[in-house]
Parts: sequence; C-alpha cells; structure tokens
Amino acid sequence: MKSASKFSRRNFLHYGLAGAGAMALAPTLSALAACSPAPDKKMGIALVGLGGYSNGQLAPALQQTNNCYLAGIVTGTPDKATKWAQQYNIPQKNIYNYQNFDQIVDNKDIDIIYIVLPVALHKEYTIRAAQAGKHVICEKPMALNARDCEDMIAACKKANRMLSIGYRLHFEPHNMEVMRLGQKQVFGKVTQLENANGFVYGGNPNAWRLKKALSGGGALMDMGIYAIQGARYTLGQEPIAVMARQEKTKPDLFKEVDETIYWELEFPGGFKSQGKSSYNNNWSYLKAKTEKGSFELEPAYGYGGIQGKTPNGVMPFPQINQQAAQMDDFARCVLTSKPTRVPGEEGLKDMKVVDAIYRSLVSGKQERIV
Ligand code: NAD
Repeated sequence: MKSASKFSRRNFLHYGLAGAGAMALAPTLSALAACSPAPDKKMGIALVGLGGYSNGQLAPALQQTNNCYLAGIVTGTPDKATKWAQQYNIPQKNIYNYQNFDQIVDNKDIDIIYIVLPVALHKEYTIRAAQAGKHVICEKPMALNARDCEDMIAACKKANRMLSIGYRLHFEPHNMEVMRLGQKQVFGKVTQLENANGFVYGGNPNAWRLKKALSGGGALMDMGIYAIQGARYTLGQEPIAVMARQEKTKPDLFKEVDETIYWELEFPGGFKSQGKSSYNNNWSYLKAKTEKGSFELEPAYGYGGIQGKTPNGVMPFPQINQQAAQMDDFARCVLTSKPTRVPGEEGLKDMKVVDAIYRSLVSGKQERIV
C-alpha cells in the first residue's frame, strides 16, 4: 500500500506547498498514521457476510494490510465457505455460520469481527460480537436508527471492546485534506457548502437495499450518509437542524425506500449547507466556497479516482487502498489501546441526522437534530 511518506516533493511544490505550506500539511500526513507505531503482531479479522463489499473490496484489501489479516469468515452459504477457504487459505476451525456464530468466543485467532451485513442485522451482530469478547468494525450506515446505535455503543462499552464504523474516507488523503482546509479555515471561513452522493440503481429489484425492513431506507442511508459525513467533517461542527424534501421518479422500483432526497443542514451560528442523495443520479462531489476561494472534490466518495482542487491547485495526493488503511488503523488502535478516529459515536451522529431528515420528510418542516 502507498503511504503518506511516498508523497513526492515535486507534487508538494506543484501544490504550492514548499516551506510553510508543507508544514501546514503535516497534520494531515501524520494523521494517516494516527495509531502507529505499528507493533509486530497482526490482528485476525473475521468478515461476517460475504456479499459484494466483502468479496470485492474487504477481502482483497486484507491481502494488502500490515497489521491485520483475514483470519476467519461467517457465512450462511456452505459453497462460499469452501471457495473462500481455498482462495484465502482459511482453516476450517475459523469458518462459522449464523447458527454457531457465538462459538467464536473460543477462537483465539480472531480479534476483530467486521459486520458486512444488511443494515437491519448490524445491531444484533455487533452486540453478539462484543459479547463474544471481540472488537468490532460495523459497516455504514451503523444501524436502522440512532437508538439502535446507542444500544450498540453501550453493549461494546459494557463488554470493554472497541467499536468502529467502516468510514473509509477518514483515511483517504483528499477527504482528509478537505477536513483540514475546512476545519482549520486555511482559506478563511467556509461560506457555502454543497455535496452529493448517489448512483443510478440498476440492481436486483428484490435486493435487501430496496426492502425497508432490511435497509431502514434507501439512497439516504446507503449513499447520503457520506454527504452528511462530508458536511460534518468539512466544517468540524455538528448540525442542529435539517429541512428535507424528496423526489420519486420510479415509485414501482422504490416502493419502500427513498430514491432522491435534498436536504439543508443548519449549523450553530446559522450557517446552512446543502446535501443530496440518490438512487437515480450519478453524483459524487463536495464543493466549498470560502472567504479566499473555493475547494472541491469530484469524484469525492468512491473507492478510488478521487480528485480535488483548491486555490493552490490540484491536490497532489495518491490514490490509496482506503479499506486497507482503515482496517490497519483500527488494528493498530486495538493493539496500542488508542481510540479510533471513527468510533461508534461517529456513526451515531450521522444516524441522528438521518432520523431528523426522515422526520422532516413526514412533517414538511425543519426538524431539530436530537
Ligand atoms: P450484499 O447484498 O452484496 O451482501 C450482503 C451479505 O449479507 C450477503 O452475503 C448475504 O448472503 C448476507 N446476508 C445474511 N443475512 C441476510 C439476510 N437476512 N438478507 C440478505 N442478506 C443476508 O451487500 P453489500 O453491498 O456487501 O453490503 C453489506 C454492508 O456493507 C451494508 O451495510 C452496506 O451499506 C455496506 N457497504 C459499505 C460500503 C463502503 O464503501 N463502506 C460499500 C458497499 C457496502
């Protein structure tokens, strides 16, 4: 995996970051290794749910990690177990199904359980994993609603286990730079902020993502969560209220869940940012105006190909394997007993916003985020 230390001097100069500018970037670069130095031991991770994200992203990323490795799997499909065991050299004793999952308590090879299931199952498996004595990474969105997030946080605290949310963009250099530019007001205060995330859903009409009981909601839960995150981490503030409206052009396909939602977040002091999520538009951007120019990311939120511009020029950062960086960081946090930068509390904050957006769709009014 490329590391921050491989950023070239030539690129910094191009970005106008010689001398003092380069010093200003230092917090971003050091944050990439927040939980280092890395100890020798590798943490064993078990993936729960071997669907698209585990198969396409997380298992390949675990081949590139330094502080953790793919130690085990939990699946309800015996054929997948056989295939994964061969492909990733996983011993039979580290393969579980949903019935014998709790026996993982006795497995010394597995330190961290990574929940990669439909949203409705996040709470149950996070709590069971913590009760089995394992640290937990839970995919986004954290749960069906904020109350479930609170239960998950409480269960992990009670079991004295660490809980992290799969917010890979906190480890992605362009997004980290936006956090720095906005929060440190490098170009002055942010005066306008708009961001959006979505794609044109062309998948299975019977998939769990379109069933409210399993997903909790549609594009807002799945994609909009990144835009909510983006606004929060660019400003470094928590929104206090939100007004939202929705649009549905394919009511048959999106019978149970939202298709496109537009929202306006209000922050303390009255600043308002605009966000939107969609299963019917290919959106992935963040655009900020500041007192001294604009900065933006587009695409902003994918697994790769992220690009950014600032008044200093094009951001010179490399594309990294976000999932490998995210999992390595959590493994280091566990190994060194340091807090993760993406704890359960971070997922809870986003779900409070999501809950308020859904309330606003019903009431037609601005809703407080509580
Ligand atoms: P998927 O449908 O491809 O896989 C889901 C897996 O859960 C399947 O293997 C399925 O067999 C299993 N499963 C177990 N019980 C199930 C049940 N009752 N109903 C349906 N499936 C069941 O989904 P995915 O795209 O891998 O998403 C899984 C999680 O990962 C979601 O929370 C999603 O939001 C998240 N995700 C995150 C990212 C990211 O960039 N961080 C990207 C994709 C998905």
